[in-house]
Amino acid sequence: MLVVRTLPELRAACGGRADIGFVPTMGALHDGHIALVRAARAASETVAASIFVNPTQFGPNEDFLSYPRTEEQDLAKLQAAGCDLVWMPDVATMYPPDAASTITVGGPALRWEGEIRPGHFAGVATVVAKLFGQVRPQRAYFGEKDWQQIQVIARMTEDLLLPVEIVPVPTMREPDGLAMSSRNRFLSPQERAIAPALHAALAQAAQRLAASRNVEETLTAGEKMLREAGLSADYFALVHATSLAPLTQFVRPARLLSAARLGRIRLLDNVAVN
Ligand code: AMP
Repeated sequence: MLVVRTLPELRAACGGRADIGFVPTMGALHDGHIALVRAARAASETVAASIFVNPTQFGPNEDFLSYPRTEEQDLAKLQAAGCDLVWMPDVATMYPPDAASTITVGGPALRWEGEIRPGHFAGVATVVAKLFGQVRPQRAYFGEKDWQQIQVIARMTEDLLLPVEIVPVPTMREPDGLAMSSRNRFLSPQERAIAPALHAALAQAAQRLAASRNVEETLTAGEKMLREAGLSADYFALVHATSLAPLTQFVRPARLLSAARLGRIRLLDNVAVN
């Protein structure tokens, strides 16, 4: 496995490779990230991953500085999963001082995380577009854990005619249902015990909706379940699966989406609805 940290090294490493499956990450890797690497491995001649904690997607009061950085363990996990190439740029490579262009995102980026974290998806879209330009993959793999993020990136890729196929990968969960996340390590034992309630509320809402088709009653019951578990919901919503517009009546394709606060941590999750 080749680890490259400069653009000339990356160009030399990616140069003649015709079939690259790419997994962008911010490191602190867990089995959710590794599921993306395995999906890429199954479909690609070359598997490339990137590790870059992208400052522009963090708000001023967010955890950019304290975001977990576990480089050595990350590289061991990537190697074990069959990754061929790891791109680890520094901030100056991604954002040279004379850089003057960013990507503006609307549509699926406007609500939910986009509203709560202003500028977040612009930062994500900009860094992903840059990574695509650097790595030039045929396919890029993203986790359904961040459902809204996938829709924003799929929209951007289509709008800007980027020659990359966006491949979604299902959410990897702990045995109790909690979606794996790099920030879960910051949960106290008490918070860790409460955290699975987010997935439980979403799963119960999906069942309730399948049975009753009553959106309002389903969302009210879901919010109540979160509250009773000790979670403070930022939103608990039924949305159109690609536009992310809120739905007051059940129509397909739909997704149940929620974010909730637990102490200092925000938990995000979503489930399909049939
Ligand atoms: P991050 O390092 O948090 O930026 O995540 C990098 C990629 O891994 C994104 O496409 C995430 O959606 C994906 N990812 C994060 N957690 C999970 C999970 N539990 N299951 C599947 N994919 C995930």
